[in-house]
Amino acid sequence: MPLCGSQVVLCDLPIRFDTYRGCTHQCKYCFATRKNYSMKDVRIDETHKQLINFIKGKRVQTTSWCDWDIPLHWGGMSDPFQPAEKKFRESYKCLEVFKETQYPFVVSTKGKLIATDEYLDLIKQCNCVVQISLVCPEFDIIERGAPKFAERLEIVKKIFPHKRVNIRIQPYMIEYHDSIMNSLEKFAEAGAYGVIIEGMKFIKAKKGLVRVGGDSVYPIGALKPKVAQIKEKAHKLGMKFYSGENRLRSMGDDLCCCGIDGLEGFKGNSFNINHIIHGGEFEMTPAMEKAPATSMKSLYQQAGSWEKLKSMTFKDIMINEYKNKEDYFKGILTDKKK
Ligand code: SF4
Repeated sequence: MPLCGSQVVLCDLPIRFDTYRGCTHQCKYCFATRKNYSMKDVRIDETHKQLINFIKGKRVQTTSWCDWDIPLHWGGMSDPFQPAEKKFRESYKCLEVFKETQYPFVVSTKGKLIATDEYLDLIKQCNCVVQISLVCPEFDIIERGAPKFAERLEIVKKIFPHKRVNIRIQPYMIEYHDSIMNSLEKFAEAGAYGVIIEGMKFIKAKKGLVRVGGDSVYPIGALKPKVAQIKEKAHKLGMKFYSGENRLRSMGDDLCCCGIDGLEGFKGNSFNINHIIHGGEFEMTPAMEKAPATSMKSLYQQAGSWEKLKSMTFKDIMINEYKNKEDYFKGILTDKKK
């Protein structure tokens, strides 16, 4: 069943959907799946039947606050169009559901399958935005199991006449900055609508990096000028720019970094701390005033915290989080800290 995690405090599309558990693209930087996964390790995760239930309005504990057709983010933890899809075809079945229901979604992939005739025919008939993860040619050696840079540009070329395609420059690595700048022209030529950038994160502390919200990341003074160059060039080339880098969210052309702005039927959740901190508009819905605090259980893992929260709602918790941890959120969602 589509679920929602702690990203709900800062993300407009926090309800995630993954058709597979495990991924064979073997990206060296991947947080989501262990390295060297082989085809035999990949399993179906969420199914098209669960998707149908969600679309019909069924909610679980972590999604009980959502009472509208929020666009789902598909493919955050594993690639829906990785080679295992040829065997299981669960993503194909989901595309059929999305086509029938016209339910909005954003799908992230590096997989070539999405641009084959059979799949593209369904994509054309869906209400969707496609994100292709693509950084620069040098990444071919650290994404060994995925289609190469040039092959992914071909995917963009095939999809863009039919659907909005955004390029995810993620993880952005400063050492490849020049190559990424050169790649922007190729993204624009291929038909990309926009680029989304997010800097590399490491779990362990590393020399020259700083700790922000539990991750080791580039110091903002090193990252911001580089990101500004990318934004400027993307605009010159006629592409939109979005910041998935939390500290630089306000640099994006929209506070939602998924690149769904202006599309009919694509209404994310604006009632989050990212919008509150940056003075963006936000809207609460009736379910947010009723949904129990347990809908945000991922924020409260400590023993005993439930006692305090029993009488609270989703709305109360969102406001409490902001009031009680304003400095913390300003640290992770603005460029004020070095
Ligand atoms: S495509 Fe995504 S999920 Fe798959 S290995 Fe690469 S980073 Fe991980």
